[in-house]
Amino acid sequence: MVEEAACALCGTARDLRRLPIYQMDVCLSCWVEAERGWPQSAEPALFKALAAQGLLIPDRNEANLLPRAYAPPADFAL
Ligand SMILES: [Zn+2]
Repeated sequence: MVEEAACALCGTARDLRRLPIYQMDVCLSCWVEAERGWPQSAEPALFKALAAQGLLIPDRNEANLLPRAYAPPADFAL
């Protein structure tokens, strides 16, 4: 798989930021839109990123969305 610098959700190459938990790049506008949780349209990409690292899917938040960021388990080594 070729990794290109692009937002994992919308594909833009501008204003990218790395998500340390999901280990993927998203653009600023997608990040801002996910303030209350990732939209369901983003979930396939998030699940794929988590699976690629062997990570569990985080608990959903009060809006039943995946959290934008979450505290990893204590034994999670960065
Ligand atoms: Zn984006």
